[in-house]
Amino acid sequence: MAADTTTATAPDPRGSGAGAPVLVIDEVGKRYGGVQAVDGISLTLHAGERIGVIGPNGAGKTTLFKMIAGDVIPTSGSIQLFAKDVTRIGAARRARMGVGRTFQISNLFRDMTVLDNVRVAARGGSAKARVFWWPQRANDAVSNRAIDALAQVGLHGRRDDIVSDLSHGEQRQLEIAMALVGEPQILLLDEPAAGLSAVERVTLKQLIEELPRTLPILLIEHDMSLALGLTDRVMCMENGRHVVTGTPDEVRSNETVKEIYLGRRDKR
Ligand code: ATP
Repeated sequence: MAADTTTATAPDPRGSGAGAPVLVIDEVGKRYGGVQAVDGISLTLHAGERIGVIGPNGAGKTTLFKMIAGDVIPTSGSIQLFAKDVTRIGAARRARMGVGRTFQISNLFRDMTVLDNVRVAARGGSAKARVFWWPQRANDAVSNRAIDALAQVGLHGRRDDIVSDLSHGEQRQLEIAMALVGEPQILLLDEPAAGLSAVERVTLKQLIEELPRTLPILLIEHDMSLALGLTDRVMCMENGRHVVTGTPDEVRSNETVKEIYLGRRDKR
């Protein structure tokens, strides 16, 4: 197995209490015809850890996310979840193994209530689950779990509203509730701040911060300040390749990151 790409000098921000690996990405690559979208990326996410993946447009973040979630099968390398090789296992089985994830393109049923969306997600979230959907008692086990998940993201008070009446930011909060209702062992967030206003980003950041520290999170995010503010370690990619992995401070001050991500050199 290839070594983790963490920089040799980077101190482990989790200290001696670092948990066991829950996700091990080993030299993973994905080629689409002539395009090497992801090229030999290695990264390990430990129990209780939060990792951000940043990079400019076309860096390969989404492709990497899809390989971790099981939407896309890598053309090289391997992925382990909870010490099991899942490289060729699809998204539905990974979800049953404890992977909770959000989607870049909204996965919401916009004509249903907020609570019913989370109840559908609790039952597997498929279109089939919706076809056979019918209103249930307010206090059944699925509804109670759904209400708990809504409370975790601050949407408890909007549970009877129709989704199309929610703001864009609230819809993102709902998507996170739908990921949480399955009681995941790992949470994958795919560009959760995309398209949100500055105010909505603050709300989103706060709700992610307040999720239980025991839940490992891998966050793919174009918004560098959000990713750096929420995570223990950050990996920066460019053109499918690894650039640097380190603490948020190390990544923030890295000259290569400044140049390729912010498009400038430090002028100090
Ligand atoms: P963005 O922030 O713009 O979403 P990204 O970092 O998520 O970018 P990817 O979407 O993973 O980057 O794309 C990486 C490269 O792979 C790009 O050159 C893209 O055009 C290419 N690519 C991604 N998906 C496919 C596909 N299905 N078929 C062909 N090329 C693809």
